[in-house]
Amino acid sequence: MTEIKFGKVYDLSMLTYTNMVMHPANAKIGERARLTLINSPRHVPQRPNQAIEWPVIFHIEMPSHTGTHIDSPLHVKKNGKSIDELPIEKFMGEGVVLDMRHKGPSEAITPKDLENSKPEIHEGDIVIINTGWHEKWSDTAEYLEEHPGLNEDSGYYLLEKKVKMIGTDTMCPEVGSEESHWQHPLHRLCLIENEVPLLEILGGEINEVTGKRCYIVAVPIKMTTDAAPTRVLAFL
Ligand SMILES: [Zn+2]
Repeated sequence: MTEIKFGKVYDLSMLTYTNMVMHPANAKIGERARLTLINSPRHVPQRPNQAIEWPVIFHIEMPSHTGTHIDSPLHVKKNGKSIDELPIEKFMGEGVVLDMRHKGPSEAITPKDLENSKPEIHEGDIVIINTGWHEKWSDTAEYLEEHPGLNEDSGYYLLEKKVKMIGTDTMCPEVGSEESHWQHPLHRLCLIENEVPLLEILGGEINEVTGKRCYIVAVPIKMTTDAAPTRVLAFL
């Protein structure tokens, strides 16, 4: 077994909480995350000196695309692989966190941008893109619909590099627009044709590892769903 040595671990995940901001497609359906505290049943035996309210249990109900999460092929393909059917190796490995914070609203990240980015992308990398949009986290049109993103050409560029997974700090990797929330061209390209999982809604300490090559672990909860909540760690 290989021992992984690292200096520091960074958490690139968003906090998941009740009624948090959702992708407009979910929001239109009226779906929101609900994390509800269930009162402890009174018949649960209590130990001496234990507060009567304990133990507590939460009931968690939310769309599979809530907060930081990974999309699997099933999201856009009937009978496509669900999260639990993807090989676990897809969710960890070396990768780069690219700085695209100079990009403006609804501006495309082009193959040239990816080619010139530092550090350079290696075959088999997990590629994470920091647009800076995670700092605009809100229910506003600016955050939801005007984020920079990959265009189809840059999608092909990354797939030719045989990247393992693509992640962004936005609601979806495509350039933000009202239309892209339903069309999802890159979702189809990555998930249907190449089984490259998409990692969405990154945030947390992403700025601290931007412009760096690191070891990335982004493991979704093992569920038979089209997407699943994910804790994302970067090791430097
Ligand atoms: Zn998603």
